[in-house]
Amino acid sequence: MQLLDGKKTAKSILNTLKIDVAQRATTGKKVPHLAAILVGTNGASQTYISSKVKTCHDIGFRSTLIHFEEDVSELKLLEKIEDLNEDMAVDGILVQLPLPAHIPEKKVIEAIAPSKDVDGFHPENIGRMILGEEDAFIPATPYGIMLLLEHNRVATKGKHAVIIGRSNIVGRPMSILLSNNSYPGNCTVTLCHSKTENIKEICLQADIIVAALGIPGFLKEDMVKNGAVVIDVGITRIEDESKKSGYSISGDVDFENVAPKCSYITPVPGGVGPMTIAALMKNTYKACVDRN
Ligand code: NAP
Repeated sequence: MQLLDGKKTAKSILNTLKIDVAQRATTGKKVPHLAAILVGTNGASQTYISSKVKTCHDIGFRSTLIHFEEDVSELKLLEKIEDLNEDMAVDGILVQLPLPAHIPEKKVIEAIAPSKDVDGFHPENIGRMILGEEDAFIPATPYGIMLLLEHNRVATKGKHAVIIGRSNIVGRPMSILLSNNSYPGNCTVTLCHSKTENIKEICLQADIIVAALGIPGFLKEDMVKNGAVVIDVGITRIEDESKKSGYSISGDVDFENVAPKCSYITPVPGGVGPMTIAALMKNTYKACVDRN
């Protein structure tokens, strides 16, 4: 069993970006600038957005964090996005999801200029991704998983990939990317969801499993064939008084029992999470280079 170390792979990608940015700076070119919007005080969202801003700082990107109160109006948020769309200094815009219930996420996502949509959620970028166009911004988590497979030279051609979860931000784009005629890709893909019957039998046929459903420890040892590649996207906070933070993080895979059967497996934490941030930074760099 080989660990797919997202922390290590992300570090290598971020180091390369850091060198590229430093080179741009020495030749007087603009460095990438990410504007990140946080609404409210959701603990997980605050943690995610802080690590994105910190990573920008670590690799020489500029960043601006805009924090609105939980009760901010839809109009005020949309006006801010419009300002950022027009701001020539800003290359990438991300709005940390989920948003409070009174703000429609779809409207917010569609308000971001596709050329600055570094999370890759805008319908124009999703469409470009489906068409396999190179200038698409690919949603950061699936893109991070593709980078992880590529950097670790995991074979995908002709493999049966089973994705569990069909969200617009993880499962569905993952199913498209793994079925593309490219590397990583060329898989035969099965996309499972909460209405899927016989999920255990389907998983047992998989060479590659991507678990992205948000149910801690869902994927058990008896659902995985020997030699499978297992990618655990799940991040669920579980109360844990023994931790200083008061919680521990659990993935969707019963790691301890599944790992011995796998050829490759991602840990949680330290697998897909850091790769998501690395992919976001790659998208932000691309947005900057495309515009300047
Ligand atoms: P989501 O929007 O809640 O979607 C969950 C998906 O799982 C849905 O398609 C749902 O099916 C399916 N599902 C639920 N129960 C199921 C079951 N018993 N069997 C099979 N499928 C089932 O979640 P998400 O945003 O994709 O996130 C999934 C997990 O990944 C969460 O733990 C989240 O925190 C984590 N995540 C991690 C990262 C990272 O950077 N590591 C990034 C994003 C998300 P239906 O469509 O039928 O409801």
